[in-house]
Amino acid sequence: MLNIGVLALQGDFAEHAVMLRQIGANPIEVRKAEHLADLHGLIIPGGESTTISRVARASGLFEPLRDFVAHKPTWGTCAGAILLAKHITGEKAHLGVMDITVTRNAFGRQIDSFSTDLVVEGFETPLRAVFIRAPIIESVGANVRVLARLADGRIVAAQQGHLLATAFHPELTPDTRLHTYFLDICYQQRIVA
Ligand code: GLN
Repeated sequence: MLNIGVLALQGDFAEHAVMLRQIGANPIEVRKAEHLADLHGLIIPGGESTTISRVARASGLFEPLRDFVAHKPTWGTCAGAILLAKHITGEKAHLGVMDITVTRNAFGRQIDSFSTDLVVEGFETPLRAVFIRAPIIESVGANVRVLARLADGRIVAAQQGHLLATAFHPELTPDTRLHTYFLDICYQQRIVA
């Protein structure tokens, strides 16, 4: 069984834990550096990126997290994707590990939440995706694979080796395919490690 950490400082970490349990993984809430030991992967949930970053720094978790995400499978959803990004439009990066540029709150106040069907690379049918004050991935580096775009072409899911970023919230629908996809990344990494 895979031990998958869910960063539990702020945001909707509990929903990720429920999904992980459903697909046979062992979710572990991460609040301290020692919780990162023995994990096969980590999910950084949605919430407020500035708050998650601030609490991580205050609790001494920031540097251990930076070390973890450098080489261990990590999936950032929404605020989590912002935390992973190397570049944030108009702001300083947080963990700064994934070669993507994100813009926060990219959909403005009028449509700050919406859901839509997304075509995701490798999925046979569209995925219902919930966006809540979501960022957009403005651009990706050459080593980053785009997994999903909105109908207008804007990027909302991407992968760079062991790193996965989604602008939306896959833990808020019953569809477990993206969680399963992330578990596959963790399995593969465990085999080669
Ligand atoms: N707007 C939040 C941020 O900028 C992200 C929103 C979310 O995670 N649902 O951090």
